[in-house]
Amino acid sequence: MADLVFFAGTMDCGKSTLALQMDHNRRARGHRGVLFCKFDRAGEQMVSSRLGLRRPAVEVGDDMDFWAYLVDLAVGGTVVQYLICDEAQFYTSAQIEQLARIVDEMDIDVYAFGITADFRTELFPGSKRLVELADRVQVLQVEALCWCGRRATHNARLVDGQMVTEGEQVIVGDVDDAAARASVPDAAPAATDSGNVEYEVLCRRHHMRRMTSARARQAAPQVLPFDEARP
Ligand SMILES: [Zn+2]
Repeated sequence: MADLVFFAGTMDCGKSTLALQMDHNRRARGHRGVLFCKFDRAGEQMVSSRLGLRRPAVEVGDDMDFWAYLVDLAVGGTVVQYLICDEAQFYTSAQIEQLARIVDEMDIDVYAFGITADFRTELFPGSKRLVELADRVQVLQVEALCWCGRRATHNARLVDGQMVTEGEQVIVGDVDDAAARASVPDAAPAATDSGNVEYEVLCRRHHMRRMTSARARQAAPQVLPFDEARP
């Protein structure tokens, strides 16, 4: 029986590295799979990890139909045993439903990797639908740390160095791919119409207090991190 599994984590938790490792392990056993990505940091048609691994992947556009894609492969005689879906937070709800149908009706395992919540602490649509539909949600515990040393659980967006909690969920420039990738955590800072956008992972406490590493540096040593200020 195939499963729909959602591997959820923050930005720096090594999701793409694990996605590529799972693909490698399965291919080494002779299984056939397809990799999908969206707005990967390496650009289109690639899953890449910050450790330097990369593999060709199918870029997922908003109008892509996973069900039709898999039917076409089957008709062409290609046997597929698993799908690895990176950056699944950016997929549409309908696409996540297609993936669930593929699991149930084609008996193909689907491993989706994504960030749960955006910089406003709200669920991405793809992640929301995955949480609702997945057979299992596995929270990745790879060490992504806030500047204070706590486990980083939240993503912060910085525009021109200032943390913001309002704005478009995904910043997509008019026709500029680099700007589109500015919405993707892990990407290098990118100039957009709305300013220079970058991301930082924080613990929830410091996300709520909008205390980024830069602000913490400015504040030190007069203001210690709140816990450490206690006797
Ligand atoms: Zn913190």
